[in-house]
Amino acid sequence: PSFALNRIGGNISLRFAGIPMGHEFTSLVLALLQVGGHPSKTAPEVIEQIKNIEGDYTFETYFSLSCQNCPDVVQALNLMAVLNPNIRHVAIDGALFQGEVEARQIMSVPSIYLNGELFGQGRMGEEEILAKLDTGASARDAEKLSAKEAFDVLVVGGGPAGAAAAIYAARKGIRTGVAAERFGGQVLDTMAIENFISVNETEGPKLARALENHVREYDVDIMNLQRAAALIPASAEGGLHEIKLENGGSLKA
Ligand SMILES: Cc1cc2nc3c(=O)[nH]c(=O)nc-3n(C[C@H](O)[C@H](O)[C@H](O)COP(=O)(O)OP(=O)(O)OC[C@H]3O[C@@H](n4cnc5c(N)ncnc54)[C@H](O)[C@@H]3O)c2cc1C
Repeated sequence: PSFALNRIGGNISLRFAGIPMGHEFTSLVLALLQVGGHPSKTAPEVIEQIKNIEGDYTFETYFSLSCQNCPDVVQALNLMAVLNPNIRHVAIDGALFQGEVEARQIMSVPSIYLNGELFGQGRMGEEEILAKLDTGASARDAEKLSAKEAFDVLVVGGGPAGAAAAIYAARKGIRTGVAAERFGGQVLDTMAIENFISVNETEGPKLARALENHVREYDVDIMNLQRAAALIPASAEGGLHEIKLENGGSLKA
């Protein structure tokens, strides 16, 4: 089974190869709304970046109906396909296309292919996909980051621990930055959290959003999707430590 969504006279290439029930039902509803012209809640600068992507991109995402990390990927790529005719997306239920799964030796979902090659695995959103696609953006990022003034406290990592450290520092008026490969950390990978005292039950992505909102209440510079590659300690006491980022940029504190 396979069906495509498009608007009359539109050039959107968005297809579900499977029946998107289970966790993917929301993806279907969102895709229907967005193909129909309903605006996405994604940040305007991200939407702009998606619209400006040049090139030719055919994405295939393998999902399963019970996969909790799949809808984020399916929804991000569907939105990208809606916004940019250079981007095509097929969301494939691996259970119905076992031959493909075996041929590609897919061991986990979501598995994402771009133009026939493995692009990534696991949960990712528009910003992570863009960072992987748009290498020019990464170089521009590196330049911007390197131009930042030194921080008093620079936290590497944006999970609960990093978020707490940043809030504590910023509350004291200390100039604080957070560089995180993935703001939210492992919390993004879980659905049911039932041992966060005083909150009976919550979901990982919801808690991650709350963490970010809390950090943003303070004057903290969050630099998401930045992977630290090396720490170069200050050469003299009182000097600046340096974090070398994977994209070539560097931050000091
Ligand atoms: C599936 C799953 C379910 C879970 N369920 C629960 C639960 O129900 N209850 C519970 O209490 N705990 C649960 N946990 C554990 C909980 O999520 C972790 O204990 C918690 O997230 C740890 O927080 P942290 O900030 O120390 O590290 P992490 O959450 O691991 O965050 C690390 C941060 O550092 C970043 N980072 C790593 N390397 C680099 C680098 N080189 N450069 C820049 N940034 C980097 C990461 O991107 C991330 O932002 C679960 C974990 C998982 C995976």
